[in-house]
Amino acid sequence: MTAPKLRLVVLAVLLLPCHSVGAADTSANLVLVTMDGVRWQEVFGGVDVDLIEDERYTRNPELLKKAYWREQRTERRKQLFPFLWSVIAAQGVLVGDRVQESYMEVRNRWWFSYPGYNEILTGKVDRAIDSNDKNWNPNVTFLEVLNRMEGFKNRVLAFGSWDVFPYIINTQRSGLPVNAGFTLATPAATEESRWLNELSAEAPRLWPTVRVDFITNGYAMEALKHQLPRVTYIAYGETDDFAHDGSYDRYIDAAHRTDLMLSKLWTWLQSSPFYRGRTTLIISTDHGRGNTPDGWAHHFSGASAAKLGVKDAPNGAPGSNQIWLAAIGPHIQSGGLVKGHWKQSQIAATALASLQLDPAKLMPQADKAMEELLR
Ligand SMILES: [Zn+2]
Repeated sequence: MTAPKLRLVVLAVLLLPCHSVGAADTSANLVLVTMDGVRWQEVFGGVDVDLIEDERYTRNPELLKKAYWREQRTERRKQLFPFLWSVIAAQGVLVGDRVQESYMEVRNRWWFSYPGYNEILTGKVDRAIDSNDKNWNPNVTFLEVLNRMEGFKNRVLAFGSWDVFPYIINTQRSGLPVNAGFTLATPAATEESRWLNELSAEAPRLWPTVRVDFITNGYAMEALKHQLPRVTYIAYGETDDFAHDGSYDRYIDAAHRTDLMLSKLWTWLQSSPFYRGRTTLIISTDHGRGNTPDGWAHHFSGASAAKLGVKDAPNGAPGSNQIWLAAIGPHIQSGGLVKGHWKQSQIAATALASLQLDPAKLMPQADKAMEELLR
């Protein structure tokens, strides 16, 4: 081959879109979402009639039945999670339906929040993380790894309803901006963020450490619109707290409203020239819940029961290690349910792989990506 021809070939290769030559997609973005303690039973089966009819948990069974109960399982789940079962089921993937040979579980031995979020964000289990206390996480999350990289620096943001997220993401070390708990936006650069700060003071404080999700969602959407982060983590929290309160009505209502927020988030991403067609959305949860009416309100393992001295439930809440995941995006398969076995510790590497990065290089300690979901 003569020199001029070679130059032409090189030029042609350089002009090709990057994914067609197998190079990293330098424009890929990610939104990771967690819905605290939402069970796979509701995600794949819709509302649970045993819990609707249990007067310990449901105040107005007729209202809940009318809104969400349908005979067919497929219709029932779509009624509760219309975004998951229309857009994601058609254009993305879901895993964790144990009725259909799809299994996902936490690897940590505790089955509650901090160990779960640590597992999701760092890709491994740290046996020393055995409480929800506000301890600075010694482990590095994939968010922190990305924030150190060129192209992502200062373009990684996190929002959470629970006030422990700054510790889980270790803002002290990572320097990542985490707006969580009852934190206001500072500086409040836009009119909407000033309004959200006002609403934060006016919204009901239902729990001491968790704010209502529409505030978290509002701050996240505002940041997406004005700061164009490449990686955004949104951690919704209401579902878990309403469940601990023993309110199935409100747990279901919160789950449905979160699905609505995700629908609006995805629609907005697809309307944005910056995000459209090059943004992955991954949705999962920190733990499941008990799989019986007696156990559903809580989530803890036998090891947790022993540690906490819970004598009447030595096995914890069986089933609360069972989780699920949904994903959609340019590097994610389509076609709905995928059969197989996965662990929560695979989410970090999957997130990195969805950005066309090599998790084995960036986080060699993390468990491997969920290859079956990627393309
Ligand atoms: Zn909980």
